[in-house]
Amino acid sequence: MIAVNSERLMQSLADLAQIGVTSGGGVTRLALSDEDKHGRDLLARWMRDAGLEVSVDDFGNMTGLRSGKTDAPPVLLASHIDTVVKGGKYDGALGVMGALEVIRTLNDHGIETVKPIAIVNWTNEEGVRFEPAMQCSGAVTGRFTREYVYDRTDRQAMRFEDELRRIGYMGEEANRPLPASAYLELHIEQGPVLEDANQPVGVVGGIVGITWIEVTVTGQPDHAGPSPMRLRRDPLVAAAEIIQSVERIATMEDDIAVATVGRVNVEPNVINTIPGKVVFSVDFRHPDGDVLAGQVARLEALVEHVCSERNVIGEVDRFWTSEPTPFDQDVVFAIRASCEELGLDYGELWSGAGHDAKYMADVCPSGMIFVRSKAGLSHCEAEESSAEDIETGVNVLLGTAMKLAG
Ligand SMILES: [Zn+2]
Repeated sequence: MIAVNSERLMQSLADLAQIGVTSGGGVTRLALSDEDKHGRDLLARWMRDAGLEVSVDDFGNMTGLRSGKTDAPPVLLASHIDTVVKGGKYDGALGVMGALEVIRTLNDHGIETVKPIAIVNWTNEEGVRFEPAMQCSGAVTGRFTREYVYDRTDRQAMRFEDELRRIGYMGEEANRPLPASAYLELHIEQGPVLEDANQPVGVVGGIVGITWIEVTVTGQPDHAGPSPMRLRRDPLVAAAEIIQSVERIATMEDDIAVATVGRVNVEPNVINTIPGKVVFSVDFRHPDGDVLAGQVARLEALVEHVCSERNVIGEVDRFWTSEPTPFDQDVVFAIRASCEELGLDYGELWSGAGHDAKYMADVCPSGMIFVRSKAGLSHCEAEESSAEDIETGVNVLLGTAMKLAG
């Protein structure tokens, strides 16, 4: 069985991590910034050196194509090289550099696959500079229009399209990386599950569904001194009771469900006034859309119950939902088979975060491989994975790519 060159892989990751390096050992390489341009230039050079045909589409998505024995649509190995502010060196970069190492390894061994294989570097996966995230995989798969993407602006009111032109990565619509035979994304886990299970890599079953809710509880603001407890209509105490139960909605479901109240606004937020209104967010995530719907129903019943007991008014607004995305069974099977060939003790998990694979799953058989993250940290300078785990993950990517491309 052939294997990747770990030293070369880690060197490429380290070289890319120098572009936008931060004092704390992380990376700031925001989409369409000068650092992004330098990273792209380096990637393009490496792709050409590996014999790939490099092209850029009308969103700046970069493709490096390695031809196969047939003209079938390529198997895509993709991720992103943009980062958040003070992000880590592997979120996204691992998937692109891992794909490059797969190509280099195939070249070393003179292997010609039946289907072509292509590396894709998606523009603006993070959505930090130009919201929302996963913008350009979303655009090529029909979730966003070109006008919508081009008109996104950053905090300095710079437009996406203008910045794309400025860094020299405005390409042709004909170069969009579709159609594709299959889509594979290697990524750091960004969570603690694999580390907890002591497993180097994980086969990803899909991307969880997410639903966002805003709960508003309205009572009667009043002076904190002269108001007896029995006559109060305090929305914050009601909200506190609801928030406690939100945690229970997740813990009582199963081991996978998560629920978070991350934002609370209290009015007027004054020490000697009983609050008049409390607005808080609820974030539910689960692989099963029916489970999510059940959790929302439980929350609605809970809010109604608590608010009527406490004589306050509760409103539940489910304002955004991203449906669960199960990955293609054949792709998942191929990843699993590659892990087994390597004799790995691997995990099976779902992604709690969004990735470009979510949108690509709309248009071709897709899957993801996770590499263990130290302490589960990501989107920070302390993000880390061991060279050993990275090598293992890229070997799984190589094995899977060879199965899917023939
Ligand atoms: Zn990422």
